[in-house]
Amino acid sequence: MQHVFGPVPSRRLGQSLGIDPVVPKTCNWNCVYCQLGRSTPLVAERREYVPAEAIVAEVAERLQHYRGRIDWVTFVGSGETTLHSRLGWMIRRVKALSDMPVAVITNGSLLYLPAVREELAAADAVLPTLDAGTADLYRKINRPWPEPDFATYIQGLVDFRQGYRGHYWLEVMLVRGMNDTEEALRALAAQIERIRPDKVHLTLPERPPAEPWVQPPDEEGLMRALAILGKVAEVVHPASGAFDLSGYDDPAQAVLAVLARHPMRESELTAALARWGGDAVQRTLAALQRSGQVRVLERYGQRFWTLAQARYAE
Ligand code: SF4
Repeated sequence: MQHVFGPVPSRRLGQSLGIDPVVPKTCNWNCVYCQLGRSTPLVAERREYVPAEAIVAEVAERLQHYRGRIDWVTFVGSGETTLHSRLGWMIRRVKALSDMPVAVITNGSLLYLPAVREELAAADAVLPTLDAGTADLYRKINRPWPEPDFATYIQGLVDFRQGYRGHYWLEVMLVRGMNDTEEALRALAAQIERIRPDKVHLTLPERPPAEPWVQPPDEEGLMRALAILGKVAEVVHPASGAFDLSGYDDPAQAVLAVLARHPMRESELTAALARWGGDAVQRTLAALQRSGQVRVLERYGQRFWTLAQARYAE
């Protein structure tokens, strides 16, 4: 499977060329809302899941193809980016390839390690997750590997701020009945005050969550979140632009590359693969489904295509 995907549209990062440094699904958290399904088992070891040289060579090729059409190059993907042990080397190499800014999306759990903080310092933007202001809610929403504990994870986020000169944007996923209560939001606000990010982005689950009961906050919950966090936070709705999959020679390859990182509605897939024609897209999806590589998942009353190996609670 290829490790560079998109560009995908992003509200925060414009057209973003994605770099996936791990393989599905490699994560030390098992968030209830994860669009990639459950993390079974949890993986906490830092190692070179994919040869770093191969990833950088692929990035170089894609940067040529998409020259002038992307805004950011973003490490993000089918698990936790900082579990790749040569992430820092890759960030520096990718920055040397072009003048595109480089972002890293991470759950932030390993920022307590000085080596990880040093590696991420080379990025132009770091976007860690903070969904809970208490240890109890952290366990319930993110279902993390036991280490680090909550206090150590938060301290890592605080410590990174001290030395980091790039954009530091926290991401909070709001889940109805979990972190949209007054108590949970006040606890979150207190942690955010300690961490002092440049921005806080509130996001809502809109792709299929690992657990079927996960819902975005209702109007009242969202209003409460804005009232309590509104001074520092803004709601980021999903971007509406098209996925640009023109860099692929083959529709099956394009479908597999994008679904490993983004479950998609059929209409999104058809639009992204328009150059092959609607019939070709349908034939490709049917063939990939027959061969057991992709499947359809119903969530929020909609049909999403995902990798067949992704594990969602039914
Ligand atoms: S949302 Fe991110 S941190 Fe949470 S389980 Fe999924 S990949 Fe891991």
